[in-house]
Amino acid sequence: RQEQYRRLRDLPAVTRDGVAVSLSINAGLIVDMPHLTETAAEGVGLFRTELQFMVAERLPSTSEQQALYEQVLAEANGAPVTFRTLDIGGDKILPYMEITDEENPALGWRAIRIGLDRPALLRSQVRALLKAAAGRELRIMFPMVATVDEFLRAKAIVGKEKAYLKRHGYPKPSAVALGVMIEVPSLLFQLEEICREADFVSIGSNDLMQFLFAADRENRQVAGRFDPLSPAGLRALRMIVTQARQHECSATVCGEMGGRPLEAMALIGLGYRGLSMPPAAVGPVKAMILELDVGALTKTLDEALRKEGSVTSLRARLETFAADN
Ligand code: PEP
Ligand code: MG
Repeated sequence: RQEQYRRLRDLPAVTRDGVAVSLSINAGLIVDMPHLTETAAEGVGLFRTELQFMVAERLPSTSEQQALYEQVLAEANGAPVTFRTLDIGGDKILPYMEITDEENPALGWRAIRIGLDRPALLRSQVRALLKAAAGRELRIMFPMVATVDEFLRAKAIVGKEKAYLKRHGYPKPSAVALGVMIEVPSLLFQLEEICREADFVSIGSNDLMQFLFAADRENRQVAGRFDPLSPAGLRALRMIVTQARQHECSATVCGEMGGRPLEAMALIGLGYRGLSMPPAAVGPVKAMILELDVGALTKTLDEALRKEGSVTSLRARLETFAADN
């Protein structure tokens, strides 16, 4: 198997009917970066910046953050890297930060909510990113956004930091693309407005499914109870990609779904053309893509979603398609 995946390394990820799918990797530390070359992935679709904060003993300074981002960009060697701003709180606790006791941490003070309430922290990170990307393209996305206004406020912080760089004569990135993670179901009903404001959206399917089905992703008793490959899950994902396309906004997936071949297949069938996944998943997902007939799959999926809307899961249906395809 490993040998087979190695042989696929240099083949483009194109389906049998000629549809190209862009495969990227998820990363979080500098040790993850060599996987980019090993897998021949197109870039880093999700760089989880909180990892540096989680392994540190105190809050990393702006220059420490900048040093890491510079190293990441150097190792990426021109390939695009999408940095996600700090996604802490919920299950990701920083030992040196004030702990607030919360009844429901997953629904609590976390991610962009902390960033907007403690703008010094977010500004320090954005400044580090802008400085690190001097002269090249910078991509930043914000986690756990629930309203358009939160994204606008995050954008305003980036604007302030760009002005800071200019005022002090620092070189700036050649371009800055700002994106929103779709993880909170409320965004499904603000897609038009989000797409108007964002350069791209990236679906955090782990959190999106957790909140869509109100089932804690860390709680084994309930986590397996609902399937992202259920009609509700698939319709939500289809709604996002369809509307994003209408509004000319790129929509990709960076949650774990994108790295599981059958789920990745479903995503491609729904219209996604960009997936970011753990490095070890690139080989298996590419092997699936090379065998896939997307036209036939989209037809099958659309029909199943029309006629089998009350089944619990379309997993078996998709497995049959994959076996016959
Ligand atoms: C997600 O929620 O799908 C995601 C990519 O973010 P994380 O797993 O880091 O919460
Ligand atoms: Mg998430």
